[in-house]
Amino acid sequence: MTNGLEPLIYEISASGRVGVNLPDCDVPESPLPTDLMRDTLDLPEVSEMQAVRHFVRLSQLNHAIDTGFYPLGSCTMKYNPKINEDVARLPGFAHLHPLTDPEGAQGALAMMYQLQQWLAEVSGFKGVSLTPAAGAQGELAGILMIRKYHHDRGDTARTKILVPNSAHGTNPATVTMAGYEVIELPADEEGNVDLNALRQACSGDTAKTIAGMMITVPSTLGLFEAHILDVIQAVHDAGGLMYMDGANMNALMGIVKPGELGFDVMHYNLHKTFSTPHGGGGPGCGAVGVGEKLLDYLPGPIVDIIAPADGEQDAPLYGLVTPAKTIGQLKAFYGNFGMHIRAYAYIRAYGGEGLHEVSRHAVLNANYVRTKLMDTYTIPYPRYCGHEFVLEGHWEDAPDIHALDISKRLMDYGIHPPTNYFPLIVPEALLIEPTETETKQTLDEFIEVMKKIAHEAKTSPELLHNAPHITPVSRVDEVKAAKELVLCCAPLLKTVE
Ligand SMILES: *Cc1c(COP(=O)(O)O)cnc(C)c1O
Repeated sequence: MTNGLEPLIYEISASGRVGVNLPDCDVPESPLPTDLMRDTLDLPEVSEMQAVRHFVRLSQLNHAIDTGFYPLGSCTMKYNPKINEDVARLPGFAHLHPLTDPEGAQGALAMMYQLQQWLAEVSGFKGVSLTPAAGAQGELAGILMIRKYHHDRGDTARTKILVPNSAHGTNPATVTMAGYEVIELPADEEGNVDLNALRQACSGDTAKTIAGMMITVPSTLGLFEAHILDVIQAVHDAGGLMYMDGANMNALMGIVKPGELGFDVMHYNLHKTFSTPHGGGGPGCGAVGVGEKLLDYLPGPIVDIIAPADGEQDAPLYGLVTPAKTIGQLKAFYGNFGMHIRAYAYIRAYGGEGLHEVSRHAVLNANYVRTKLMDTYTIPYPRYCGHEFVLEGHWEDAPDIHALDISKRLMDYGIHPPTNYFPLIVPEALLIEPTETETKQTLDEFIEVMKKIAHEAKTSPELLHNAPHITPVSRVDEVKAAKELVLCCAPLLKTVE
């Protein structure tokens, strides 16, 4: 036993124990290349049942959307319908080799084409590429398209991208990676972009140095940008292009189309809004949508109709195309195809009206929880929110309690902590996103727990300081965990001993 945890698989290993029966060899034996062979291979030897118990136990150590409420703000941890998994496992999809000729992959291409069309329709764009593997890669694609657009017009003096101070960290990181300078914009008292600061940055000679702006709508404060049309106008007047971070599309489907607002490019997070799984850092899909100006710059390959249906063939012929001025290819083959299938199944199951209902309920749920917690917690921007809201996790009469303590205590109640300390402009921020898939009972339980924790913070703060009490390990050193990552259980065993 180590650390109070169940035994590690190396501890239960016994020499000669096997978990599989291999069939008799049905091909002629031939010698293995000895120069490539290792003398020893330090693998655990366990029975099938021991292996099953080991991995099932591991899978139960983490909190998951399938086991409990997960209000992780900005991440849209909605339920992943299991029908999506069934569809992704259909042999025709799952066994399709990525090098299959387009003629032999017409079903898969038709599915991808339809998904591109639906995503374009949801957000009012002209074209979509499914290739980026994450939101952050979609961002990079978008900013590289903006860059190439300006350069192709001989406009190389534009070196700056405007980013509001509430932005997700990937936004300034993307700007820097694409070779641009970040100009940070402050928020006004209501949590909107400070229009005066924006107009200042877009006026006079500096206007010619603005390549564009990246903005999240609704913002990471959960607020719909009240002056979004003015913001877009100001940047366009300066000659810049508008990038929308579409990670928060869960608030907008069927309500607002970013393309119609005037945005030039946006990424979608299929692993957020469109319910494809999200865990462990991937695989995801950060598809990008663009308006007319950037259509030729999309990263390829994208799926297009090569020959329409006619009298001789009853279905159109689909093929892979590379846009004329493409920024290039960002990912092997076509991106994470399995995510495309799941998002397709999700959209197909809901339909347009259903997606509209998804966003309405996501917004309703967030506003319900926000108003119920308003008397117990400080809500810095007390206005109608989108699909998430931010509150402050501290009180004057509980000076030693921080947002982190509240989050850790939530784990004792079987709830995943919300996003902590983000957005950075709110002190002790807790960013709460209930999503549309939770029932009113779950939301009411969460509200109860949050109120209980607020009471505990003032009457028995040690309950929060020592939390979590019920998890296999309590508070971890998160910096050490990231800097000295141990992924293999064999060396872990040695360090624990
Ligand atoms: C999640 C998120 C991103 C990044 O998306 P990834 O798929 O995690 O790379 C960018 N911006 C916002 C606002 C987000 O919530």
